[in-house]
Amino acid sequence: LKTTLRNFCKRNGLLTLSVIAVMTGCTLGFMLRGTQLSTQAKIYFSFPGELLMRMLKMLILPLITSSLMSGLSSMESKACCRMGVLTVTYYLWTTFIAVVVGIILVLIVKPGVGTEMESNRLGGDLNMVPSNLVEATFQQYKTDLVPILKVPTRTVPPSFVYVIPEEGIPSGRTVYLELTPPPEVHYKTSPGTSQQMNVLGIVIFSATMGLLLGRMGERGAPLVNVCQCINECVMKIINAAVWYFPFGIIFLVAGKILDMADPSTLGKKLGWYGITVLAGLFVHGLILLPLFYFILTRKNPFKYIRGLLQAMVIALATSSSSATLPITMKCLLENCRVDRQIARFVLPVGATINMDGTALYEAVAAIFIAQVNDYELDFGQLVTISITATAASIGAAGIPQAGLVTMVIVLTSVGLPPDDITLIVAIDWILDRFRTMINVLGDALAAGIIGVPSYGTGKPHSVNVPMTELHT
Ligand code: ASP
Repeated sequence: LKTTLRNFCKRNGLLTLSVIAVMTGCTLGFMLRGTQLSTQAKIYFSFPGELLMRMLKMLILPLITSSLMSGLSSMESKACCRMGVLTVTYYLWTTFIAVVVGIILVLIVKPGVGTEMESNRLGGDLNMVPSNLVEATFQQYKTDLVPILKVPTRTVPPSFVYVIPEEGIPSGRTVYLELTPPPEVHYKTSPGTSQQMNVLGIVIFSATMGLLLGRMGERGAPLVNVCQCINECVMKIINAAVWYFPFGIIFLVAGKILDMADPSTLGKKLGWYGITVLAGLFVHGLILLPLFYFILTRKNPFKYIRGLLQAMVIALATSSSSATLPITMKCLLENCRVDRQIARFVLPVGATINMDGTALYEAVAAIFIAQVNDYELDFGQLVTISITATAASIGAAGIPQAGLVTMVIVLTSVGLPPDDITLIVAIDWILDRFRTMINVLGDALAAGIIGVPSYGTGKPHSVNVPMTELHT
């Protein structure tokens, strides 16, 4: 028994700790909600969680660039093309299927239909809408308020090329790559700056560089070696940093619960809307995607998903598929034994363009808003919603509540008022966590599927590479 217990802890220790951390964070958050914590106290309280987010963000850029550049440089052009086409086609189809699942469910459940007066109709405040700048705003406001936190904050930069001093940035100017909020809605904008990365741009640039390096032969070899070294270092940093995660998760989750709206103020309609989204995510993520995986690989999908649990917990805690990327990569390489080259391509691309959970949620939300407004949608408009929701999810960044911002595209495409996203703001932060989990799951299952020799790159996806070699 002792050996079994030791083996279990050895294999699942981190996962167990992370799950306990989520539960502790929830309990702590709810316990502290009753107490009147000052803003300063809240800032100190959520600081360990903030550090966790910064750590994860710091790893994204080196991980994506080094993975794609070294991964693609060692592949044949034909195999690269086949993998690229397969990956993008698979991603588009699964996203579209997710949207269809969402549409069917919301039309059956009809969460927005009824005459119930919604007390929270105006309860959502547009200022609560976290544009992708808000995280940066929060960071800015935190560091402005508590100067003592500036030092530890700066020791963990969200990007290793981010060198501009935070105070030196002119107000309201974009100094770093960011997704510009749609002009129709005036989101709360940052008094300082955004530190948001343009992950899609990084993916395209690195993939192109990787392809070219592969064609350069001997001359490209030094840079490929550098990329491989960076990749190895990043994986080592991840392996060390994961032990901090459970601690960070407690405060990340508790901090969010401290700030959330009182659940009793959420109306019945909003409750049904939330249930519809969650049911859709469940059907897509835990029934349809595993079914595709089984049909295409003839392997047990749940055994594969078990290896991904650590990444799913991090997705739940951070609401960011980009921030979860380093952990997803670690899980795929170490637990699911996916081929390195495939994981290095499929995951970064997926974290950027494949968001099944987001697409499903956007379709459900748009139809819910139409139902609340007594707005009849015809078949053509439903088709429009399915196409725009797929497109909007591709455009959404892998950051917290990005889907809420890109949903404006879906609403305006069928003539719904974009301001009505206020209807769903109150509940969005929690739905965001679950859709992020499905986004991460979708990318990871895709890597397992694309790796099958008969239609993949010709490499088996279950290779028995010794652990040390997996990181190179
Ligand atoms: N938070 C989601 C993600 O990072 C995006 C969204 O749906 O808002 O994948």
